[in-house]
Amino acid sequence: MTDAKDGWSLPSFWLSEMAPLTRRPRLEKSGSVDVAIVGGGFSGLWTAFYLHELDPSLRIAVLEKQVAGYGASGRNGGWVCPFFPVGWGRVESIFGAETTRRFSEELVGTVDEVGSRVAELGIDCDYTKAGSISFMRNQAQVGQAEDDVKAIERRGLSGDWRLLGAREAEAMLRVSYADGATFTPECATVHPARLVRGLAKSVESRGVEIYEDSPVSEVEDGFVRVGSVRLSASKIVVATEGYTAGFERWRRQLLPLYSMMIVTEPLSDAQYEAIGSPNPGLCFADHRHLVIYGQITHDRRIAFGGRGAPYHLGSRVSRIHDTHGPSRDGLQRELLKLFPALRGIRIARHWGGPLGVSRDWFPRVAQEPATQLWRIGGYAGDGVATTNLVGRVTARRLLGLADDSASAAVFGRPPRDWEPEPFRWLGVNLGLNLTRVVDRLEDRGAPVSALDRLRRTLIGQA
Ligand SMILES: Cc1cc2nc3c(=O)[nH]c(=O)nc-3n(C[C@H](O)[C@H](O)[C@H](O)COP(=O)(O)OP(=O)(O)OC[C@H]3O[C@@H](n4cnc5c(N)ncnc54)[C@H](O)[C@@H]3O)c2cc1C
Repeated sequence: MTDAKDGWSLPSFWLSEMAPLTRRPRLEKSGSVDVAIVGGGFSGLWTAFYLHELDPSLRIAVLEKQVAGYGASGRNGGWVCPFFPVGWGRVESIFGAETTRRFSEELVGTVDEVGSRVAELGIDCDYTKAGSISFMRNQAQVGQAEDDVKAIERRGLSGDWRLLGAREAEAMLRVSYADGATFTPECATVHPARLVRGLAKSVESRGVEIYEDSPVSEVEDGFVRVGSVRLSASKIVVATEGYTAGFERWRRQLLPLYSMMIVTEPLSDAQYEAIGSPNPGLCFADHRHLVIYGQITHDRRIAFGGRGAPYHLGSRVSRIHDTHGPSRDGLQRELLKLFPALRGIRIARHWGGPLGVSRDWFPRVAQEPATQLWRIGGYAGDGVATTNLVGRVTARRLLGLADDSASAAVFGRPPRDWEPEPFRWLGVNLGLNLTRVVDRLEDRGAPVSALDRLRRTLIGQA
């Protein structure tokens, strides 16, 4: 499918809805800027936005290999949620109770920060705070969900997290079977491509230079190179998330793990009623381990995704992996298991993209020792809101401003490498398959604690 003006294809339903897109001009001339940002996704663009806000005199350039939003930012499920890829118990054991509590507050506040910036910048991206419901579909999920909510209360973490009975849950969204659900109103949804493209336009209108079609081939302290063109910069931020392994010096920092999605045709009135006439913008999931996520869009489609696609040897990322037949079929099956009333619905598009996962699942704002070279990212699947928070922390750190936020502490944790290949490939794929097995065993009511520990260790979540 070609849907860009210069004849190339856009990698998600969301981006295709914005077709035809014209790529901004590439970086053609050598020169110098104060800050060069590599990667035109949410991370790079929010960083540019807050840098400019703090110091409008800065000359900032964003270099993007394809088009702004080409990566995960233009492909995701559109959940703007205060979720964090690392369990709260683990965050607390590393940073202590007070920092953990403050950090949860900063994450919850970020959902509103995104909403108020979207309004201020006039970005039309369907930002809607309709909350997130996560169903409990077996006894293990009930236990896990209850423990999670109790632990949040015990720690005094920010936000409103509720347990719903089966009836209350069904009143929000009707799935085939649920013992109840957890619900938080602290989540919003967006049309992700409209948000990221709108953000690019806004920062550009403020004077940030954006170069598309500009793959950075070399990053050193003081300059980046696009082909033979050299751009000098006092500070450099690399915000390439799932593509970071393409740079030799960071090839073991962020593991590209694919998340895949499908989107249905708009539901008919009868289909919409059959699933309980949910509020547009509602996020939904369940408490299984191999994450699934859905969004009810404003034009009454279901955008539905999940993890579990294989990890590719050597952290390979390629357009070929953006689609994966077994994942598409698996997602369609899971969607129909949740909503049998949708049998026969047409899937309008299937796509996917790489998440960036660090060895301990913590996102980072990391400075290379004794340089002005920064690397940000590692959100796993929770980056639509967190990129905004990371953008604010990065901007303050680059400008040398004091920052006593809990986020600065959490994102400042020293990075750790993934194992060399082929151990990385073996461990991660075995971990992914075991996660699927654990979910199936839990569906049957079988005990899984030893297997669960093993799979967490393999994928780095122990
Ligand atoms: C299918 C899917 C569903 C998801 N769903 C959700 C969700 O619902 N909620 C949520 O919170 N998170 C979700 N995520 C994760 C979220 O989308 C990401 O965490 C977030 O978008 C990361 O933004 P980023 O700017 O760091 O990375 P990206 O958006 O990936 O941007 C990196 C950019 O760098 C560019 N680039 C790479 N190499 C180079 C180079 N050498 N030179 C120049 N440019 C380069 C890429 O083209 C890309 O545009 C999902 C991700 C995927 C893939």
